[in-house]
Amino acid sequence: METDFDCIVVGAGPAGLSAALNLRQRGKTVLVVHSGETLLAKAEQVDNYLGMPGLSGKQMMERFTQHARDAGAVLRKGRAGNVMPFGGRFMVNLDGDILETGAVVLACGVSKAKPVPGEAELLGRGVSYCATCDGMLYRGRAVAVWGLSPEAPQEANFLHGIGCSVTYIAGRRPDTLDAGVAFRAGRVEAVEGGAAVEAVRVGGAALPVQGVFILRAATPPDALVPGLALENGFVKTDAAMRTNIPGLFAAGDMTGKPLQVANAVGDGLVAALAAVDYLDGVSPMTD
Ligand SMILES: Cc1cc2nc3c(=O)[nH]c(=O)nc-3n(C[C@H](O)[C@H](O)[C@H](O)COP(=O)(O)OP(=O)(O)OC[C@H]3O[C@@H](n4cnc5c(N)ncnc54)[C@H](O)[C@@H]3O)c2cc1C
Repeated sequence: METDFDCIVVGAGPAGLSAALNLRQRGKTVLVVHSGETLLAKAEQVDNYLGMPGLSGKQMMERFTQHARDAGAVLRKGRAGNVMPFGGRFMVNLDGDILETGAVVLACGVSKAKPVPGEAELLGRGVSYCATCDGMLYRGRAVAVWGLSPEAPQEANFLHGIGCSVTYIAGRRPDTLDAGVAFRAGRVEAVEGGAAVEAVRVGGAALPVQGVFILRAATPPDALVPGLALENGFVKTDAAMRTNIPGLFAAGDMTGKPLQVANAVGDGLVAALAAVDYLDGVSPMTD
């Protein structure tokens, strides 16, 4: 597989696929990384997208995906743990693989989860959203994994494999969890600590740990990219879908209302055009 792409798009929903299609149509190579099914696939019928009445969300997604693939976009399944700007370029951590690229379009949809008490305060001081990114920092230590995504058992096994003492917290023990991973039924109610994480509260009781990996299906955008500016919980962009970080663009539900397919597709186009200008060193027309 080709490994050097002009642009990486995070998310294969309507926004990400629209960005990928339009980047391809302007001659850029594109990798689309995605961690699972999009929201749209859950829609029984979508009747407000021009020219395609009566399709189910799944059928629309099949068409969008095929169109982007036919245009030459490469799709790869995996979770982007973080996106790090460096020297005008970016490093994207995809399940532990570091990919380098010239520009990034974030199209991750909405993260509906409300942080639990202590989570935001202790982020980066024991709270992490990515085992493969931060796991090594906790080697030989006690950590909790709160498994809210399909890939969470795999990440817990990874932590166990590198020498962490892992307790997996979820409604039920997943079949794929390594035998050496402890299990606690329930949910994380709070993260506790002073300068760093000291415990998580599960079922009202404190479980002493030095780290907690909160593995939700969607990562909060500012956890994905440190320093990313938000407004009312959505990624803040200008009219060209540029974020506060040069070379980083955002599109679709993660940038705010209306949370609708047509808006996501339009955002994807605008973000792609701005990314092309950035890659070509051109000042966008909105300046
Ligand atoms: C039940 C239901 C019915 C709906 N009906 C309609 C309707 O009739 N009409 C309408 O216009 N809209 C409808 N919507 C809304 C519509 O689905 C969304 O507005 C649209 O899907 C937003 O597109 P998006 O690309 O921004 O995000 P999403 O479609 O949510 O896609 C997000 C993508 O990001 C990926 N992702 C997230 N985090 C990561 C990560 N860290 N690493 C890698 N990949 C990641 C996900 O796997 C996914 O591929 C409906 C939604 C639901 C749930």
